[in-house]
Amino acid sequence: WASAAMPPLQRFLSGCHADFWSDHDGAVANYIPELGKADPAHFGISLATLDGHVYEVGDSRVPFTIQSMSKPFVFALALDILGSDAVERVIGVEPSGDPFNSIRLNADNHPFNAMVNAGAITCSGLLRQARQADAFDTIRDALGRFAGRKLDVDDAVFASESTTGDRNRAIAYLLRTSDVIKDSVDDVLAVYFRQCAVLITARDCAIMAATLANRGVNPVTGEQVVTPYAVSRTLSVMTSSGMYDFAGEWIYRVGIPAKSGVGGGILASLPARLGLGSYSPRLDGHGNSVRGIKVCEALSAHYGLHMLNRS
Ligand code: GLN
Repeated sequence: WASAAMPPLQRFLSGCHADFWSDHDGAVANYIPELGKADPAHFGISLATLDGHVYEVGDSRVPFTIQSMSKPFVFALALDILGSDAVERVIGVEPSGDPFNSIRLNADNHPFNAMVNAGAITCSGLLRQARQADAFDTIRDALGRFAGRKLDVDDAVFASESTTGDRNRAIAYLLRTSDVIKDSVDDVLAVYFRQCAVLITARDCAIMAATLANRGVNPVTGEQVVTPYAVSRTLSVMTSSGMYDFAGEWIYRVGIPAKSGVGGGILASLPARLGLGSYSPRLDGHGNSVRGIKVCEALSAHYGLHMLNRS
């Protein structure tokens, strides 16, 4: 429902919510058993502009786990904490063309990029080496500064992924054989699984995306969270690999750097313009939220936001 009295952006979001509400395609992820408990009806959208305005509609304050949407932020953090050389030495920046959980590494036996599990586990490993037992708190604090508030962890989702995450364990063992991660697989995955279980809302997601769009300055709190270097490199990798093996299609059709998570979130960050966050837990075969994709397509088309079609 959208009233003529609403500001245009609010009206646009309400229209999207009404239009895509009845789309029941896709399925809630359940390979992490606890994620299967999500309410498939939930649908929230939020958009943050760089002057700090936050628009919201639907279930925009319902918490869900960040999952793979943690990857760009932790990559940015690793670039700033360890320096670009240390990070770029072990993690590539090429799209893999594979699903997010692929065990395939590149010709150097390094992860293709930081947006797939192998690369994200490597980032968690680098931070674990740098910060030891404080690694997770460092990550949670940074995610909180991107969102502009302190963030909790869903312990049930963390426990559920810890007991079932053998594929990620296999990836981590492989990374250890090529010396990409140095700490024990258990120590590194404790950081990675916990980082994936951080709870955010669509509103948080929009503000986090807007912080990337704003050269690392949170537009609501005014805090410089990461450096402009880290932001531009993170957005680059989101552009080429943020939507996994749908990334080419995404940048062709939507043209906005984005990242999805199997919890049902999608964040999209258009430099110098806005951040969008969406939550709807039914996923397509690539692990991307079905309604979230539609919202991003509609936003891009309605406002002509494709980044390569700008005047
Ligand atoms: N924690 C999830 C995993 O490693 C994150 C995957 C995702 O959101 N695509 O499988």
